[in-house]
Amino acid sequence: MSRRYFVDAPISGDSAQLTGPEAHHLLHVMRAKPGDEVVLFDGSGDEFPARIERLGRSEVVLAVLERETVDRELPGQLTLAVALPKGDRQRWLVEKAVELGVSRLVPLETERSVAQPNAKALERLRRAVIEASKQCGRNRLMEIVPAQPWSEFLATTDSAQRLIAHPTGGISSVDVPFSHTEPIVVAVGPEGGFSDAEVTAAMNHSWQAIVLGQRILRIETAALALAAAIVAQLERP
Ligand code: SAH
Repeated sequence: MSRRYFVDAPISGDSAQLTGPEAHHLLHVMRAKPGDEVVLFDGSGDEFPARIERLGRSEVVLAVLERETVDRELPGQLTLAVALPKGDRQRWLVEKAVELGVSRLVPLETERSVAQPNAKALERLRRAVIEASKQCGRNRLMEIVPAQPWSEFLATTDSAQRLIAHPTGGISSVDVPFSHTEPIVVAVGPEGGFSDAEVTAAMNHSWQAIVLGQRILRIETAALALAAAIVAQLERP
């Protein structure tokens, strides 16, 4: 049973209220009763054991029992910039990126990308972030920013660790000594690949090309393989 619920406002004091889809889930799917205990989180990094006090038609009032800081974040900042695939694969990528601990997702507009999510689609993806965070235990939400053109993204990214996944020419992720002390930024191109001009532009901005094996991966496979390789290094015991 899902015990974690997201409160869309900072929790302070000894009471909290669930509304919208979170209340709906608790009321109509879980059929919760007063006295049941759940865990709330508000994206601040803390989580809050809480007890249901009152059930309304579309809201639930809870007594907050405790505030606990439980850090399930990566030891470092990981930004995934990606020309998102379409439909279900887009949502899937977002869900898995949350599970792996990605801090920020930047949809990229590139020469060959399909249309990137509009405001309404971004809202749906943000909902997917909440669902995945409930499941995997993250107490901070992965941020999804509005889509950015590749040239603008290159011009505004100054993190020392910046890597572009490119099937031809590059070093392997195992040969990059990722460090948690500097933000890490990785970019994955669209189904048609980054154009030569886009790769050259990245090189001119001192990006490091990285190769993920000899096969051509789909966007979401490349993004997650790269994120997983970085996570494995950052969280090495
Ligand atoms: N048709 C394109 C492939 C696009 S795959 C081409 O031949 O270049 C979509 C994106 O996934 C690529 O832009 C790249 O960022 C990433 N990718 C796929 N396979 C990869 C590999 N083996 N190594 C590195 N990046 C890869």
